[in-house]
Amino acid sequence: MYKAVIGLEVHCELKSNSKNFSSAKNTYSSYPNSNVTTVDMGFPGILPVANKEAFKKALKMALAFHCETPDIVTFDRKNYFYPDLPKGYQITQMKKPVGVNGYVMINVDGVDKKVLIHDTHLEEDTASLDHFTNYSLIDYNRAGVPLLETVTEPCLSSSKEAIAFLEALRSMFLYCDTSEARSDRGQIRCDVNVSLMKEGDTKLGTRVEMKNINSFNNVKDAIECEIKRQTEVLENGGTILQETRRYDDTDMCTYPMRSKVDAVDYKYFTEPNIPPIKITEDWIEEIKSEIPMLPYERMNLYMNEYGLSRYDATILVKEKEIAEYFEETLKEGADAKLASNWITSIILGHLNKEEIKITEIFVTPKMLKELIDMVSNGEISSKQAKEVLYKALEEEKNPKDIVKESGMKQIGSDDEIKKIVDEVLSEHPEAKEQYQNGRTNIVDFLVGQVMKKTRGQANPAITMKLIKEEMEG
Ligand code: ADP
Ligand code: MG
Repeated sequence: MYKAVIGLEVHCELKSNSKNFSSAKNTYSSYPNSNVTTVDMGFPGILPVANKEAFKKALKMALAFHCETPDIVTFDRKNYFYPDLPKGYQITQMKKPVGVNGYVMINVDGVDKKVLIHDTHLEEDTASLDHFTNYSLIDYNRAGVPLLETVTEPCLSSSKEAIAFLEALRSMFLYCDTSEARSDRGQIRCDVNVSLMKEGDTKLGTRVEMKNINSFNNVKDAIECEIKRQTEVLENGGTILQETRRYDDTDMCTYPMRSKVDAVDYKYFTEPNIPPIKITEDWIEEIKSEIPMLPYERMNLYMNEYGLSRYDATILVKEKEIAEYFEETLKEGADAKLASNWITSIILGHLNKEEIKITEIFVTPKMLKELIDMVSNGEISSKQAKEVLYKALEEEKNPKDIVKESGMKQIGSDDEIKKIVDEVLSEHPEAKEQYQNGRTNIVDFLVGQVMKKTRGQANPAITMKLIKEEMEG
């Protein structure tokens, strides 16, 4: 039996006003080749200037990944030729990146795992190429966009863990407000390294690299088919070649691209035009104070402090705004489990259906708390509350007003319900005898009759209790 060893190199574009080393705008959708300066094109004599905003965001992520940060950060030139790289080199960080030796916690099927981060470094994105039958188009808008590359140790062991890590990473970028991390815009992309080793072996097997996969689904499929392919090669007595393979998502297979034997020597050297950047303790402290409580920590807080299930906690922490909404509802005084139930079922359902964000809905945490109160003090039934919440979300009305206007109040007093129960029983004089002869499900029928008479306003638990008393008495 073989076990899989996976290491990821994740590229994520950082948000900023301008590009990493030039004053060109860093925006996603604009006319091709409109956000380009001579710096991005590598004209002779250009002087790149480090972007403080992007640099700070890179540092913020390094700290969020629990990395060690050096006192002095430098940039390096990585030299190679490709049409998407007009300068003939990429400015990156090799010797002194913003972060080394970090980790990111994930949880897969209830098991915690520390994913080790080798390093995270700030570099610039390349241009984007569009290939047609006999020509290609180049858009240099992306050239020079700040890109943070995060490299894991070869410590992941399944596609499931790899995806959990990518999802954890993406939500950390969103929580820290450093990137939109949208796969559909290529803002988060990933190189996947896969090797196999025998159970009990200590030496890692030969790895295959698959570059630039930009959907998490494709990462999953690429890993799985590569594990299958390598297993077959090894079981047939073959050897794995160290190479770069291309994953094709139409036939879900990997194909050889180039062998690592002819790997390029990038002739790295320190970028002479960007002075080393000193990182002070104060700056680190300032940035740390701007990092919110991250999803993994929040998930554990919700489980341990508020008694939520892992399932619900995971859903609530997926987006910071949803977690904040939940926490606001608790601050209003709501019970955590009840608040979680209302949010994960009805509110999130509404967000999905309308394709909106939780910050856009009319119902505030305070209103939700008031709705929960109306149920717990017996004013309305939970069935009615559901209708009220749907209505409040759809018609943008305060739940309290909906209840008032519709005269929806639940009948909760024993006396009032008893009157109606008596009425129903006098209409069905045969019921008691039938019940005592063993037809106990007649109770449900009678509860239904009470509900019908009260248009659903009778408290079902009390109704049930009173009817049973009558039947047995
Ligand atoms: P390179 O610089 O050639 O890309 P690195 O040693 O920096 O190589 O590794 C790049 C990525 O490959 C890292 O994410 C690392 O975890 C992963 N990796 C290295 N060796 C293996 C292996 N044997 N199996 C799986 N992944 C590996
Ligand atoms: Mg690599």
